[in-house]
Amino acid sequence: MELGFIGLGQMGSRMAIRLLDAGYSLTVFDRDEAAMAKIVARGARRASSAAEVAAASETVLMSLPTPDVVRNVVFGPAGIADSNRTTKLVDLSTTGPRMATQIAAELDKAGRISLIDAPVSGGTNGAEKGTLAVMVSGEQNAVETLRPVLSVFGKVFVCGDKPGMGQTLKLANNIIAVAALAISSEAMAMGAKAGLDPQIMIDTIMASSGGNVALRDKFPKAVLTGTFDFGFATGLSYKDVRLCVDEAEGMGVPMVVGAAVRQLMAVTNATFGADSDFTSVARVVEGWAGT
Ligand code: NAD
Repeated sequence: MELGFIGLGQMGSRMAIRLLDAGYSLTVFDRDEAAMAKIVARGARRASSAAEVAAASETVLMSLPTPDVVRNVVFGPAGIADSNRTTKLVDLSTTGPRMATQIAAELDKAGRISLIDAPVSGGTNGAEKGTLAVMVSGEQNAVETLRPVLSVFGKVFVCGDKPGMGQTLKLANNIIAVAALAISSEAMAMGAKAGLDPQIMIDTIMASSGGNVALRDKFPKAVLTGTFDFGFATGLSYKDVRLCVDEAEGMGVPMVVGAAVRQLMAVTNATFGADSDFTSVARVVEGWAGT
């Protein structure tokens, strides 16, 4: 199967390398030449546009930052939509159900390309090791054909047969993950101000009812070390939380905690910038706490 891959950043580069290591032949494109060169050096073919990837590949996978970028790569100039080779388009990015539904409907009108949304969770470490959760939805036959490819990234969870259902599940996951990071930042700041050793706090809480994924991974790797480099940009995390709260509000589902998390990510984004790591939220809270 000829595969194309567009977007070779923190996640995409690692997923593309796994596909190459699994023996797939890949044509790749990223607007950042240095990002592309790394994957070409591992054996992928270089393309000079998304359209060129689509001209060479039946299946095209994308790992791109935002819904607007995805829309542009699909329908913009030198995009994928006009390809007469591509039959399946897989969006591994977190772009929300609205964009997935719109893109699927527009592609459906043209009648050639089937959109599968397959957002992932598990961070750069999971992308490297092939232990991601892959949240898939779309036309059932296409999903089954793609299962071996998606399994290279981790465990495949089929969320439904309508485009966007995988994206909804991913937003639900991410609001929980960022809320855990936010509340852990507040609780850790309180403990530090009271003189508790942060490591003793983490060891104890991880053996207690407050144990969560932020204290398991993000604090030990990127907050207590002072490196704030877990591998996920504040701007992208803020985008996820916004997409989730907007979606919930649109459906009449109250998100009181979610809205507070959105505000905290907005402040982190304004304070440290969209390119900072999302663990910088702990720095915001530390600053307010004076710890
Ligand atoms: P990233 O910014 O590191 O990578 C995005 C890549 O897309 C970059 O290399 C960039 O140059 C490229 N790109 C941007 N616009 C382009 C265009 N028009 N044409 C071609 N290439 C273009 O982002 P990331 O952290 O790898 O995240 C990618 C997606 O996966 C996002 O939607 C993010 O929310 C999601 N995600 C990220 C993580 C994580 O831990 N980093 C985890 C799960 C999901």
